Amino acid sequence: MIVMKPTATPQEVQAVIDRVESVGARTHMIRGDELTVIGAIGDREHVARLALDGTAGVDRVVPILKPYKLASTQIKHGERSVFEIGGRKVGGGNFVMIAGPCTVEGREQTLETARIVRDAGATMFRGGAYKPRTSPYAFQGLGQEGLRLLAEAKAETGLPIVTEVMDARDLEPVLEVADVIQIGSRNMQNYTLLSEIGRSGCPALLKRGLSSTLEELLMAAEYILKEGNESVMLCERGIRTFETAYRFTLDLMAIPVLKQMTHLPLIVDPSHAAGRRDLVMPMSLAAAAAGADGIIVEVHPRPDEAICDAAQQLPADEFAGYLERVQAAAAVAGTTLWREPVTTGALA
Ligand code: PEP
Ligand code: MN
Repeated sequence: MIVMKPTATPQEVQAVIDRVESVGARTHMIRGDELTVIGAIGDREHVARLALDGTAGVDRVVPILKPYKLASTQIKHGERSVFEIGGRKVGGGNFVMIAGPCTVEGREQTLETARIVRDAGATMFRGGAYKPRTSPYAFQGLGQEGLRLLAEAKAETGLPIVTEVMDARDLEPVLEVADVIQIGSRNMQNYTLLSEIGRSGCPALLKRGLSSTLEELLMAAEYILKEGNESVMLCERGIRTFETAYRFTLDLMAIPVLKQMTHLPLIVDPSHAAGRRDLVMPMSLAAAAAGADGIIVEVHPRPDEAICDAAQQLPADEFAGYLERVQAAAAVAGTTLWREPVTTGALA
């Protein structure tokens, strides 16, 4: 990591980039509010031999000892990542509420849910068109038709769309609709898929694998970041433990610990962790109060009729009350939900 002086000129920055690349290393520019940092990825020895300390414009050269580099807090000097998705800010004190059904099941179910969560103040709309199902005999999602319905929901509500891609072969049609691509837990270590999503430049929501460590999660994020895609949200969605009373164990400790490890925003998924509706509220409140940058939650107009994850989806008519309480918990941690600016019409 090459930290440039605040007074470094663009020519000096370019000269350092050229030298680093001349020894076969790749560079990543990170421009913070005050500092410009150049990440050099390649053979440490080759870069060290350039003796960049003392070069014009260079303040200091610092090795990053962690295996994850671009995801590390060190590379941003403790600054949090903040990025924009469809006009909504993510990270750095902005709390996002991503809500919607587990699966896009049909037109009415999708549009009805989108309208309700938008009116209640959700930041983005979620819904799966391609579903990772434990059983190959279970409903696998509507695919292209599901994407079309998501596009309709977006056109009607203005909510950015979060949807999963399971296979790189489906990436192109998904990119036409998605504002955020979800990478499911089961795909967290699908490295070719991660690299493809990195190259696409589309913001990503990377879910933690069922049995993955935080370091493995950050190494997976690194695959996306290294392609130049900086808009990565991490997602804690419960991990497998010996406990059988609920589906997974929501690892709330991951929130403060990841904040120490990485500058990337962290979203919590209480729905898939719990597998049960009654646990969604308490876990959401705890996650928001612990400093999560947002929540992704499943909401359905008639959960009992849901094709998948029926037991955990919140009834849509309870969503407004739910969001109000989560917002209060987020305020405790100093984060604020984005609200659409109220338009008061031509006479305002
Ligand atoms: C989902 O969010 O729809 C999902 C399947 O989650 P996960 O990959 O965390 O199981
Ligand atoms: Mn689900």
